[in-house]
Amino acid sequence: MPKSDQRTIKPRKDGAEAVEAAVALCRVRGAQITPLREAVLTVLWSATGPIGAYELRDTLSEQLARKISASTIYRTLDFLCDYGVVSRIESRNAYVACEHPQHDHACILFVCDDCGTSSEIENERLQGLLTADAETLGFTIGKRVVELSGSCAECREAAR
Ligand SMILES: [Zn+2]
Ligand SMILES: [Zn+2]
Repeated sequence: MPKSDQRTIKPRKDGAEAVEAAVALCRVRGAQITPLREAVLTVLWSATGPIGAYELRDTLSEQLARKISASTIYRTLDFLCDYGVVSRIESRNAYVACEHPQHDHACILFVCDDCGTSSEIENERLQGLLTADAETLGFTIGKRVVELSGSCAECREAAR
């Protein structure tokens, strides 16, 4: 993979703590956390935006100095999504660490088309509206990930 295509990954300041919290939460929910699962969480938490499975595979193969297959990565990601600590961004086929895994919520993600960063917010009002609409339809909501794409404040500033 050409190095020039790689996004710079800058750590979020609370990354290590967040990974610890996510691991603890998975354990409480009955999941076993393998070193690979923890490593995936660590990489996702150190990124500023969603990461694809192949990029994760390359990063982790290098970090753990062993060849990890894409199917292993996909299995690990599915597992972490099931336990509510990772969200899948369907439109980009990429994954992001959930910012508030400790409670039940809809992940509302703003993803920048220019720099690829994402920000997650919680919005109880919007969540309430979606739940009410689902009830009207007799629909049971499974995954709740709302994706919005556009330009982040920094990119808008830079374009001025
Ligand atoms: Zn979330
Ligand atoms: Zn941006």
